[in-house]
Amino acid sequence: MMKKKTPSENHLWHALPPDVICEALVSTEQGLSPQEAKRRLTRYGLNKLTPAAGRGPCKRFLSQFHNVLVYVLLAAAGVTAAIGHWVDSGVIVGVVLINALIGFIQEGKAEKALDAIRNMLTHQAMVRREGKNVLMPAEQLVPGDIVMLESGDKVPADLRLLQVKNLRADESMLTGESLPVEKNTAAVGTHAALGDRFCLAYSGTLITYGTALGMVVSTGDLTEIGRISAMLRTVPSVATPLLRQIARFSQWLSFAIVMLASATFAYGWAIQHSSLTELFMSAVGLAVAAIPEGLPAVMTITLAIGVQRMAKRNAIIRRLPAVETLGSVTVICSDKTGTLTCNEMTAKSVFVNNKLFTVEGVGYNPHGGFKLADETALVEDHPYLHELLRAAALCNNARVEQKHTNWIVHGDPTEGALITLAHKAGMDPDLLNQEMPRTDVIPFESEHRYMATLHHDHSGHAFIFIKGAPERVLGMCNLQRIDGEDVPIHAVQWHQMMDEIAGGGQRLLAIAYKTVPSTQKQINVADVETGLTLLGIVGMIDPPRPEAVKAVLKCRNAGINVKMITGDHAATAVAIAAQLNIGDGSVLSGEDLDRMTDNELTTAIRDVDVFARTSPENKLRLVTALQADGHVVAMTGDGVNDAPALKRADVGVAMGQKGTEVAKETSEMVLADDNFASIAHAVEEGRGIYDNLLKSIIFILPTGGGEALMIVAAIVMGEILPITPVQILWVNMITAVTLSLTLAFEPPERNIMNRMPRKPDKPLLSAFMIWRIVFVSLIMVTGTFSLFLWERSLGAPIEQARTVTVNTLVMFEIFYVFNSRYLHHSVLNLHGLFGNWLVWLAVLLLIAFQMAFTYWQPMQVLFGTVDIDAHTWQMIVAVALTVFILVEIEKFFIRLFLPKAAAGNSKR
Ligand code: ATP
Repeated sequence: MMKKKTPSENHLWHALPPDVICEALVSTEQGLSPQEAKRRLTRYGLNKLTPAAGRGPCKRFLSQFHNVLVYVLLAAAGVTAAIGHWVDSGVIVGVVLINALIGFIQEGKAEKALDAIRNMLTHQAMVRREGKNVLMPAEQLVPGDIVMLESGDKVPADLRLLQVKNLRADESMLTGESLPVEKNTAAVGTHAALGDRFCLAYSGTLITYGTALGMVVSTGDLTEIGRISAMLRTVPSVATPLLRQIARFSQWLSFAIVMLASATFAYGWAIQHSSLTELFMSAVGLAVAAIPEGLPAVMTITLAIGVQRMAKRNAIIRRLPAVETLGSVTVICSDKTGTLTCNEMTAKSVFVNNKLFTVEGVGYNPHGGFKLADETALVEDHPYLHELLRAAALCNNARVEQKHTNWIVHGDPTEGALITLAHKAGMDPDLLNQEMPRTDVIPFESEHRYMATLHHDHSGHAFIFIKGAPERVLGMCNLQRIDGEDVPIHAVQWHQMMDEIAGGGQRLLAIAYKTVPSTQKQINVADVETGLTLLGIVGMIDPPRPEAVKAVLKCRNAGINVKMITGDHAATAVAIAAQLNIGDGSVLSGEDLDRMTDNELTTAIRDVDVFARTSPENKLRLVTALQADGHVVAMTGDGVNDAPALKRADVGVAMGQKGTEVAKETSEMVLADDNFASIAHAVEEGRGIYDNLLKSIIFILPTGGGEALMIVAAIVMGEILPITPVQILWVNMITAVTLSLTLAFEPPERNIMNRMPRKPDKPLLSAFMIWRIVFVSLIMVTGTFSLFLWERSLGAPIEQARTVTVNTLVMFEIFYVFNSRYLHHSVLNLHGLFGNWLVWLAVLLLIAFQMAFTYWQPMQVLFGTVDIDAHTWQMIVAVALTVFILVEIEKFFIRLFLPKAAAGNSKR
């Protein structure tokens, strides 16, 4: 016998047969004891990978300088240094450094925030400890633990498989092999290559089919994936299509700046004969004015805050670009059970022995009785009812339990409803299982829509019990049970009954059985395909989620079509859809879809919103057809077979609670609460984030535009520069860190879900946005330049006129930030003016900064400012107020004459 050791000490587990391993290590029945597991946890550490180092801080800091706009700024610093303007070059370099620092810190913070959100999706594993199966965080696994796997799971550690049933694993991440690999328990040669060790299941790979039991042989960094972990933990990128568009815009802008600066330079030189120094300073001024120094940081922060806000509303973003795509979604295809409904099943009707019983009670509380034609019925008087319920309780993995005053279900709610039903009939499922222990099982998979179990009683009889979708089970039965006898089945009558019960919105399950020789110890699909006896059908209700009803309406107002795609019976689906206001009563079944060509499908789905008895392949075809019809599709899914549809959808949405790891891995977003309403919230937040990004752009760009225009105007008019480069940098930086940032915290606008979805191909700067930027730039330049010229005409020294210019620009921004809170709507109301207290805080802070800038001696020296009097301040405020008034008037006219533009998109 082998010396007892812990698994991690032997790397040749694949070369040992399962029985040797079990003998040497733990019993598969018992698993480890909690004490032993604790001891091993101390020794081997948590089962997680050490994060890859990523880019070092130095590299990350330096990468902040790798930007064309920064190059232009540095060139500007070079120019000012060359002509001896050391203060200017010092300030420009200072700004570049501060910007890099802000970018560096923000990028780090945004990445941390995203990481934290990703970590919310903890990975769970089913482990056997001291004879009990417990669901625990995969991090807690230790070598020697016995782990159960089923289709859809992500393997939590490297496992030596001890028992398998049709197990297939997708190991492409490790071996590159794209097809799932069939697994077994047989030992292989010591030198077998990784991909040939069929008796090992590797951490991080995905189970695509079947079930298995395995022993953990290595955890954390010692696993195969741990050895190559650097490959896995790619540093999350904080770029989205919009941010990339901004990066392209910066390149374009830099080019434009260089051209404009050269043209102005040439004009000043040839026509105005200005001095070289003056011209160089103007060119530098133009560059620093037109470059939106604060924009990238503000955008990153907006995105990070938005993603955190979504997580608070139960929508966890796994891939950042999804935030923007969400705003363009035109169709949401949703599962029914648990997403649109509560997934709290209560059996309400039982049809057995040609009699329709109704059941009292709600939820999993086992109190309530049976009624037959409104009369109380006792189970003792109806032995066939007992027979059916026994099968339902045995072909079952669920348990119900009383917690305080509540009854809760452990396991599948459909099965929980059957357990409650058995309790109502006075039966004890645990006792039943002792009398007829289970020998084998075919687990439920939505692909085949039934579950079957094999049982042996203690007097030498063996039975198969099966429950599943009635059409499926009916097809396997040639007999039915009437008054204790197996007689030929009368299928038409069953179908009529099914339609009647399903028409009331009840979900159906048929229950059947078969006697088999007691020597049979395993069941295969072939065993249940024919020769079964139908016992009866159970109908259960699953009420729609009240919040889903509201969310569906909200989506409709937002121009988003909601389609229900369910595995349930057509009549059940239509009845539930009606309660949710989805569709018009028409329904297509999976079979109907299979018969259609792609073109027919595209046309058909324009009018139908409910799809029943669908398979995962149907889902994939539906997504493809909708996309071909020009839709942007969000699709929910939970099973392993949903992965292709989730991947194909523009926004794949996986269920956080009942979803498999495979579904989560392939989707863009995970719903922490499996609730449809959370998708609607995510769309709302997604639209809000996009709006806020646009608001930052529309707020920041006119300042630069105004400053640049002012310099061009000064040169054209042969005037002395009204603002120096350092002053421009001051304005840009100080307003970016105060006012612009507040826009990142704006909540979604109230009417946001009354707009049509954004067209995905719509350019970043729409005609409206360009107009707004030009309009505000013109107001700013006119107001500021007029005050400057007026001051000069009164004989004010240049320092004083420039101080007025800077303060006017800043004051313009203070007023304009209020306009920018809503792109189209009036802010002349309580909410518009006071709805975001951060704006007021930023304004107060900015005023304090301006006071220091104007009156504090060291700042006066650095920026060339001087004191100005109260009367001048009045003028400044009066002039700056014009932007607020004019933009509100502009919004009014746009809403009046261009309501479509004001609504964001055209109504369809
Ligand atoms: P959705 O796709 O909206 O979540 P669903 O949950 O009804 O729909 P499935 O889980 O695929 O879809 O179930 C399809 C059918 O399979 C059900 O209508 C029911 O008849 C049957 N069924 C569901 N759960 C079980 C189970 N645990 N055992 C046996 N049969 C089941």
